[in-house]
Amino acid sequence: MEKGKQLYEGKAKKVFETDDPSLLIVSYKDDATAFNGLKKGSIAGKGVINNQMSNYLMALIEKEGIPTHFVRELSDRDTLVRRVAIIPLEVIVRNIAAGSFAKNYGVSEGTVFDRPTVEFSYKNDALGDPLIAPSHILALHLVTEKELDTVSGYALRINEILRSFWSKRGITLVDFKIEFGKTPDGTVILADEISPDTCRLWDTATGTRLDKDRFRRDLGNVEEAYIEVMKRLKADQE
Ligand code: UDP
Repeated sequence: MEKGKQLYEGKAKKVFETDDPSLLIVSYKDDATAFNGLKKGSIAGKGVINNQMSNYLMALIEKEGIPTHFVRELSDRDTLVRRVAIIPLEVIVRNIAAGSFAKNYGVSEGTVFDRPTVEFSYKNDALGDPLIAPSHILALHLVTEKELDTVSGYALRINEILRSFWSKRGITLVDFKIEFGKTPDGTVILADEISPDTCRLWDTATGTRLDKDRFRRDLGNVEEAYIEVMKRLKADQE
């Protein structure tokens, strides 16, 4: 499958058409941004790791019965995916307080929740991706009530799948962001990526951050953290 016209260039990925209108090629870059694009940089080798990790996890999620956009890995950085209309919501699941949650509600990072939380941000760069309530999502007709139930249910199941996957590898899944898309027949499927750019992953034994917070907060050893997470993922590909 060959790359056709470039459709879009985002912060961390480029998207290309293919000769099949129902398929796209996603190409992962090493570029990294944080704080709504205010902080810019590059993490050497990140694109390769995020591509491989996202594909591995999407295949795992698909095996558990949740449809995803993943079709086939084409190369180190390129993957064939199903073309969808992205639902303009960032779906965030949290097991432990960190980042904006800790800041907004004045709780310490590391506070463990009794049960996972699900929240939504409205994907809209001009507005700065604001937090949005479910009733507001419906008022804006971003999705139907049924689709919102599907998205929330999938998000919580994906949390259980990923949490158990990482815990076996000595990593605590703190929180993550996922996005969904709709195929032409209206099916809701998991899209975008799942990687250390979009998840908080803490070493269970030491609490060391093994994710993009190392870049956001200038903690150093950014590349090393991505490599370590990939090493754990590959440790036992049962
Ligand atoms: N996240 C993301 N993209 C965003 C915002 C958040 O992938 O634009 C991820 C982030 O990496 C973390 C989770 O979603 O794993 C929760 O992020 P939070 O709301 O705490 O925001 P942050 O502190 O990153 O601003």
